[in-house]
Parts: sequence; C-alpha cells; structure tokens
Amino acid sequence: MIAQRSPTFIMFSVRPSLIIAFLKPYPQQTNMILVLPKNIIEEIITRSRESKIEICGFIFGTKNGERFIGKEVEFIRNRLNSSVEFEMDPEEMINALERAERKGLEVVTIFHSHLNCPPYPSKKDIKGMENWRIPWLIVSLKGDMKAFILRSNNEVEEVKIITHPTQTLP
Ligand SMILES: [Zn+2]
Repeated sequence: MIAQRSPTFIMFSVRPSLIIAFLKPYPQQTNMILVLPKNIIEEIITRSRESKIEICGFIFGTKNGERFIGKEVEFIRNRLNSSVEFEMDPEEMINALERAERKGLEVVTIFHSHLNCPPYPSKKDIKGMENWRIPWLIVSLKGDMKAFILRSNNEVEEVKIITHPTQTLP
C-alpha cells in the first residue's frame, strides 16, 4: 500500500514547485541595459509572425560598459527548421560576424522567436547562453519580448530593454 501511494505523493509534491519555478521572475540586473531601435524590433516581430519555424539572428552594435546598443540586424537561417528550437546556420553566422567586424560592430544580442510559449529561455537556450554570455533577446508571436543573460555564476538574469524610436543612435 505504501509503495502505491508514494508515486502519487511525489507527483503532487513536484507539480506545484514546477509551476512556481515557471512563474518566478528572473532577478533583474539593474545596471545592464539593452538599447534597441524600434524598427529592428518591429522587423523581428513581423518576421516571427510570418514564419512557421523559430527565427534567429544577431543584432550588432556597440557596447558601452553595461549598455548594449543595437544598430543593425542580421537574420540567420535556423538550420533545424523547427518550431520549438533553433540553431544558426554556421556559415551564415560566420559571414554575418565578419561583416559586422569590418564595420567595427560587435554582437550585442542574439535573438530568436518562440512560437507557442512565452519569451523565457528554454533549457536548450540556457545551454547556448553558456557560449554567448551576452543578452539573449526572445520574442513571442504576441509581440512580447524579454532579454536574459547567463552570468558567470550560471544564474540567469533578466536584462532591461529600452527601445529607441530611430535607427541612428549616438
Ligand atoms: Zn528559445
């Protein structure tokens, strides 16, 4: 009897904590700010809505301390062709990085879309964030967007996003 009751107990004890973990907001790192031109955001959201798979790419720009200022967007092919995960096509990725470098720009954020879930990093996203410790921008088809960074202590923190009305930034 005890053996039969145990799994039920485990299920009931695990489920609420999972829900709480999902709803718990990530702590916000107040110093870090991602500044993005409004037209780039609009283009990413429009393209996300037109696509049946997750879209992804880079926003290039400049870094000023904890301020990440986006100036240009490059869409990269999602080589997984998947609606639930993404991987950037390596060749397109390298070409985009080289173009940016020639212009004296660096990656300020990696973006991708979530088709059926809110803009919070998946387990796979967090794994990818280990290799790119810059803000990761996630957009949902509803037009919500959030940015996160994986800190050196492996804690995910939400990054504040400021949108800028024009593409030309100081
Ligand atoms: Zn994701």
